[in-house]
Amino acid sequence: MKPAPFIRHVPRTVAEAVKILSEVAPQDGRVLAGGQSLVPIMAFRLAKPAHLVDINEIDALGKINNDGKVLSIGANVRHAAFHKPVVEGPLGTLLAYVAGHIAHYPIRTRGTFCGSLAHADPASEWCLLAATLNAVMVAHNTRGERKIAAKDFFAGIMSTALAEHELLAEARLPLPPPDTKFGFYEFNRRAGDFAMAAALVAYRLEGGKMADTRVGVGGAEPFPRRIAQAESLLEGQPPGDKVFRAAAEAAAGAVEPMEDHQTTAEYRRDLVRAVVRRALEHAAS
Ligand SMILES: Cc1cc2nc3c(=O)[nH]c(=O)nc-3n(C[C@H](O)[C@H](O)[C@H](O)COP(=O)(O)OP(=O)(O)OC[C@H]3O[C@@H](n4cnc5c(N)ncnc54)[C@H](O)[C@@H]3O)c2cc1C
Repeated sequence: MKPAPFIRHVPRTVAEAVKILSEVAPQDGRVLAGGQSLVPIMAFRLAKPAHLVDINEIDALGKINNDGKVLSIGANVRHAAFHKPVVEGPLGTLLAYVAGHIAHYPIRTRGTFCGSLAHADPASEWCLLAATLNAVMVAHNTRGERKIAAKDFFAGIMSTALAEHELLAEARLPLPPPDTKFGFYEFNRRAGDFAMAAALVAYRLEGGKMADTRVGVGGAEPFPRRIAQAESLLEGQPPGDKVFRAAAEAAAGAVEPMEDHQTTAEYRRDLVRAVVRRALEHAAS
């Protein structure tokens, strides 16, 4: 099938983009970023936006900035930009590792980091990363900008706190201390598929004990989130198999898993148990 007819707008600045978006959003106008989610949906006529605000010609949105405290990722930065570390230290290594799990190479050359956040697929790797690392999203509208913490950004399956007339201009990731250990693990049946469950964990060692512990779970619930019950079990403990298993069990017990045509809630709960334990082992390896 072919998409329903639409008008494509090509702004050159963020101000121009949000002005157009404010005018066309009430007529189901949408932002077009990498098009790797929106275009297939349009081709199947599951979405029939009358207007597309194509942001690909806005040069200001194509940048990654590092001010020493925060890594800012502009709305036109592609998944493939992270194939090589974009910043020294554990965050650059983590971003490169996670990027390799997103879809397939051609999709990664077009799809964007911020597009993934705005699209908010429950299994999106970047959404999991944003939730676990307490990212801040910067939304622009005709009246200015507003910052949205990750815990307030994701609202449900493919649903966010962005208003229909707002452009997600950038995502900000706090730079972790250099001694942070990260672990990531996702399960899918075929390489490149969306994860059926995924976990991202982080901790530092203070006197041999885990500190600043993070356990994020994605793909299991309508949106990714940190699991406090697992984090508190790990905090202050030396890393090891017993405590990793206990944290994984706590995470499995804390989630309310989605069901779909191929996965029961209990199966997904088992997956959460497995991916959290394996992510913790990855961090410790
Ligand atoms: C075969 C296949 C496999 C895939 N596998 C994975 C996977 O394993 N993991 C994964 O995370 N993704 C996967 N994807 C999706 C891919 O990562 C997309 O690139 C991503 O979801 C959306 O980014 P985009 O830039 O392409 O956004 P688009 O498709 O352009 O837009 C998606 C939605 O977000 C909105 N939007 C985009 N950017 C903005 C913005 N800056 N401000 C406001 N709204 C915005 C659009 O209006 C639209 O509603 C897959 C896609 C395909 C086709």
